[in-house]
Amino acid sequence: MAKRFYITTPIYYVNAEPHIGHAYTTIVADVMNRFHKFMGYETFFLTGTDEHGDKIAQAAQQAGLDPQSYVDRMSQLFRDTWPKLNISHDDFIRTTDARHVRVVQAILQKVHDVGEIYFDSYKGLYCVGCERFYTERELVDGKCPDHDREPIEREEANYFFRMSKYQQWLIQYIKQHPDFIRPERYRNEVLAFLAEPLEDLCISRPKQRLDWGISLPFDARYVTYVWFDALINYITALDYPDGPLFQTMWPVAQHLIAKDILKPHGIYWPTIMRAAGIEPYQHLNVHGYWKTDEGKMSKSRGTVVRPLDLVPVYGVDAFRYFLLREMVFGLDANFNEKALVNRLNADLANDLGNLFSRTLAMTAKYFGGKVPASGASGNGLDEELRDQVELTRAQYLKEMPRWSFHKALMSVWELIGKANKYIDEVGPWNLAKEPSQRERLGVVLRNLLEINKFVAVLIAPVMPETAEKMLERLGVSRKVMDLRLETDARWGTLVEGVPVSKGEALFPRIEAEHEAGDRVPGIEPKKLKKAAEIEKSRGTGTSPPADPCISLEAFNKIDLRTGIIKHAERIPKSEKLLRLIVDIGEERQVVAGLAQTHAPRDLVGKQVILLANLEPTRLMGVESRGMVLAVHDGDTLSLLTTERPVASGHRVT
Ligand SMILES: [Zn+2]
Repeated sequence: MAKRFYITTPIYYVNAEPHIGHAYTTIVADVMNRFHKFMGYETFFLTGTDEHGDKIAQAAQQAGLDPQSYVDRMSQLFRDTWPKLNISHDDFIRTTDARHVRVVQAILQKVHDVGEIYFDSYKGLYCVGCERFYTERELVDGKCPDHDREPIEREEANYFFRMSKYQQWLIQYIKQHPDFIRPERYRNEVLAFLAEPLEDLCISRPKQRLDWGISLPFDARYVTYVWFDALINYITALDYPDGPLFQTMWPVAQHLIAKDILKPHGIYWPTIMRAAGIEPYQHLNVHGYWKTDEGKMSKSRGTVVRPLDLVPVYGVDAFRYFLLREMVFGLDANFNEKALVNRLNADLANDLGNLFSRTLAMTAKYFGGKVPASGASGNGLDEELRDQVELTRAQYLKEMPRWSFHKALMSVWELIGKANKYIDEVGPWNLAKEPSQRERLGVVLRNLLEINKFVAVLIAPVMPETAEKMLERLGVSRKVMDLRLETDARWGTLVEGVPVSKGEALFPRIEAEHEAGDRVPGIEPKKLKKAAEIEKSRGTGTSPPADPCISLEAFNKIDLRTGIIKHAERIPKSEKLLRLIVDIGEERQVVAGLAQTHAPRDLVGKQVILLANLEPTRLMGVESRGMVLAVHDGDTLSLLTTERPVASGHRVT
């Protein structure tokens, strides 16, 4: 039977822009997809966006757009992010695609036809502001968390899926398939949910309160509940029910999700499939959260912390390596810039980078940059090295399919460490002094070249760019996507006499060691210079940008927030400046040139728009972190505000 692998990420809900959580899931899917390709599998990798539901309709309204224009814009943000992270998916599905609407309606009709969907009235707690029902558990002190007011009791007729009927079947299925949901902690979590009585699932919303969704095929007054719609994407993309991909790939489907959406994937989805006569997916793989300062203000920098902004600064491979090496799959992990820089310096620049550049430099110096002949191993050190290669290969092949990326990478780095030690112990520079040791020197360098090649192949799923660079310089003509572990992760695949080239460092060290978050803009010339170079290299060259347009991405770097002025006072000895305290979810001190046009007492309570990620500065000795937006009209100065009052801290988009 052909070896096949089908991997999916969740389709991402487009009410927010891509962040580290989305990036991690999608990178992991990409790594697993590449790994299975290397193992000779036929693979299919699906990602996409989830675009229906009340939150989207609301977000569109807030953005002043119709829902379709809003989801088009947001979905594009995700689509534009993945190439920058070197993600190569086979398909990108949107729940607004016509192909998806057809499949959702077909499944609804099928489940309705077999009598597993019924019409009933539902009485619940309803927030008029949110236009939705709340469960008791979602309320805070009995009130809607968004509107701070008590919901009303409301009765509404809706369609329900008989999910409760499948509870016992699902419990049995999970018990009989121990790897169905993994790691085990999440399997246990689902079984714990199922220990309580399972309720039927409300799968409709009346169009009178939400019409942004897929119409029920059997009642046009309703749209489909967003989860019933979204989960089906995994089979839409395979052309359910008759497409050849559905026949070949669905039996080997592996879903990858973060733990926040365990319940819909672990319970709703298998029971819906059961009712629709579809076999369940093969595995549900669940990962933990990245704890970051994302979205918070960095105190010293005065900017919003966004891990994805670090990708162009440190490089996509360093970023991918860090995520895979740092998180134990299934558990939570911390993301911070300092840890990323430490890994980059220690593992990548020091261990891997040094091994590679030392090997190539010595090959250039002693053998004219050509791969020397292999020969009989000279001593125990050679044997040890060969043993480590076999050990690393075995561990890597064991850990990768189990999603234990950190362990697989640790075993590769163990080999890198051994190889660096081998260089120090053998001392090729001493052998080079003895003409009689010429052959031995050749064997030593050949061993090292073989190890570099072996390492390049093993890291290729995680760091494709670096692997490609290494292979190219080692004189290997294989393209990264064509690598096969069976034939390429082998000792003795280099060819004698083939030229190799040293090139520049794989990973330049980040020299300015710093405490992330303790940093003042401007004190990191090296890093900032690197970032500036990357920015520049993306453009046409040295000329200043001639295009007066900026990309949406560039605009998204501008962090504009709604705020309320809490306090205003004159700055002594200044004619123009006022010191303001603006509440943007946190209190910001801002110095503004408003003293000649505005009395401090008139400003308090005013809603303003603050440029929140402006570099902090000092004016008349007072620190200013942000800029209040205003427009000049002759002698007057008018503050920018919003059409309707908006709570503090909302992002202006
Ligand atoms: Zn509400």
